[in-house]
Amino acid sequence: MRERGLLIVFSGPSGVGKGTVRAKIFESDNNFEYSVSMTTRKQRPGEVDGKDYYFRTRDEFEEMIRNGQMLEYAEYVGNYYGTPLTYVNQTLDEGKDVFLEIEVQGALQVKEKVPDGVFVFLTPPDLEELRGRLVGRGTDSAEVIASRLEKAKEEIRLMSEYDYAVVNDEVDLAAKRVKKIIEAEHYRVDRVIERYVHMIDDVKV
Ligand code: 5GP
Repeated sequence: MRERGLLIVFSGPSGVGKGTVRAKIFESDNNFEYSVSMTTRKQRPGEVDGKDYYFRTRDEFEEMIRNGQMLEYAEYVGNYYGTPLTYVNQTLDEGKDVFLEIEVQGALQVKEKVPDGVFVFLTPPDLEELRGRLVGRGTDSAEVIASRLEKAKEEIRLMSEYDYAVVNDEVDLAAKRVKKIIEAEHYRVDRVIERYVHMIDDVKV
């Protein structure tokens, strides 16, 4: 029987640079697949439907929820964001690891459903730096930035629910840290013990 892949949940406060670190991680060869999220927020310039997000209407999103087709979802600063279930399940069943980049409420839902996932929290070096990044991005109004910062504080308090905290002081370094964590997780005894039990049982000495 093929072993199921690992579910990697990567989250952290808005503006911390999750998207940039994720892009860095995916620049090099990996043995894991990115799960594209669904959202009802407006498409930003340069974003591609089906690659950055699946951009959907509220009605379409709510229908997916009603049909039980989301692994998790959250309402975040007035919009829905969520992870379509089918892709995640199929990919894990194929024995491949799946990488989710989601916010904290969603990550906590995944933890309930998939307790053996790997939960990695990306932190800013400090909150001033985070404010600077949100302002520098130039995509949100002052009001939205203020609400994202408030949200960030709440989210950082929930770091204790995660397995690993990685500081995003430098994108390259943060990406390397995350990759090392994923690699090491594959060697955890509770993940591989079955294989060795079979090995012992199958061999006559
Ligand atoms: P943004 O609007 O900046 O692209 O994303 C806002 C927040 O939603 C970010 O923290 C991002 O990680 C999070 N997010 C993106 N996709 C998902 C998802 O599928 N589920 C959840 N719960 N959050 C998501």
